[in-house]
Amino acid sequence: GLIVVNVFQPGDVDDSIRQQMQSQGEGADSGKVAGALKNAERGSKGFLEIFLRMVPTNIIGAAVEGKLLGLIFFSILFGYFAARLPEKQRDSQLAFWESLNGAIMKLTQFIILFAPIGIFGLVTPTILETGWGLFKVMAWFAVTVIVALGIHFLVTLPLLLSVIGKVNPLKHYRAMAPALLTAFSTASSSSTLPLTMSCVNKNAGVSRKITSFTLPLGATVNMDGTALYECVVVIFLAQLFQVPMDMAMQFQVVLLALLTSIGVAGIPSASLVAIIVILNAAGFPEETIAVGIGVVLVVDRVLDMLRTAVNVFGDSCAAVVIGRSEGEKGILE
Ligand code: ASP
Repeated sequence: GLIVVNVFQPGDVDDSIRQQMQSQGEGADSGKVAGALKNAERGSKGFLEIFLRMVPTNIIGAAVEGKLLGLIFFSILFGYFAARLPEKQRDSQLAFWESLNGAIMKLTQFIILFAPIGIFGLVTPTILETGWGLFKVMAWFAVTVIVALGIHFLVTLPLLLSVIGKVNPLKHYRAMAPALLTAFSTASSSSTLPLTMSCVNKNAGVSRKITSFTLPLGATVNMDGTALYECVVVIFLAQLFQVPMDMAMQFQVVLLALLTSIGVAGIPSASLVAIIVILNAAGFPEETIAVGIGVVLVVDRVLDMLRTAVNVFGDSCAAVVIGRSEGEKGILE
C-alpha cells in the first residue's frame, strides 16, 4: 500500500481542485464524520484494551453492540462446558444451535439477493453529486487502493498458499467464491463469517476444529485489507493537504495501520475510526481530519466492499496454511 500510494500520488492535485475538495469534505455527511470521531475517542485507549474487551461484562450487551471478541471468548467457554454435559443434553444443544445457524444462513442468503440493487443505488448518487473534476481525483485514489489490494489478493496471499501451504491457490479462489461475493456485497467480515466457515470447511476441506477457532478470531483481529487501506488513505490525505511526511513517519503510519486494524470491527466503514486515530497520531490539524474523512467517505463504500473481501480471503488463507501445518489431509485436493 505504501509503495503504490507513493508511486500513484493520488493526492497530488491542482490548488483549485484542492479547494473544491475541501468544501466537498466540509459539506459531507457531518453526522457520520462526528460519529466516527466520537468512536475514535472511545477506541483509542490503546492496544491493551483488546484484552479487556475479551471479557464482556454483559454478554447480551456485547452481542447487541457487535463486540465480536467478547462473544468469541464467551462462546469458546460455553462450547467447552456444553461439551462436558451428559450426552442427551449435549445433543439437544447441538441440534438447537445447528438449526438456528441454518435458519440465519438462509435469511442472510435471501437478503443478499437484493445486493446488486443496493450497490447501484450507492454508486450512482456518488458520481452525480461530486461532479466530474472531483470524481477524477477520487477515482485515481480508488484505483490506487484497488491496485494495492489487487497485489495483496493476487500475489502475496496466493504466494503464501503455494509456498507455505503448498496448495494450489486457484483451487482456493474457487472454494472461497461464495464467501468473497458475500463479503463484497455486505462489506462486513462479521456478517460473512458463517459463510467463510462453511466455504473453508466444506469446499477447501479444512477441519472444523481449525476453522471454528481460526476464522472467528481472524474475522476480528486479522484485517489485511483494512490495514492496507488505512495506510493508503493517510498518505493520500497527507499528499492532499500537504502535510509533510518523511519516510520514517510513513513507516510509523504502516505500523499504526497494522495495530489499529486489529481493533477495527468487521462491519461497514469501521476503519474510518482507525484512520482518525492515525491522523491524530500523525499530527494532522483537527480541521483537516474531519474534512479528510468527509472526502474519503465519497468512495468509501465501494472500497469497503473490496477490502472486506480481502480481509475474508486473508483469514481463509491463514486457516488453510494452519490446517496444512497441522498435517491435515485432503485440503484443496
Ligand atoms: N468493512 C470491513 C470489514 O468488515 C472493516 C473496514 O475496513 O471498515 O472487514
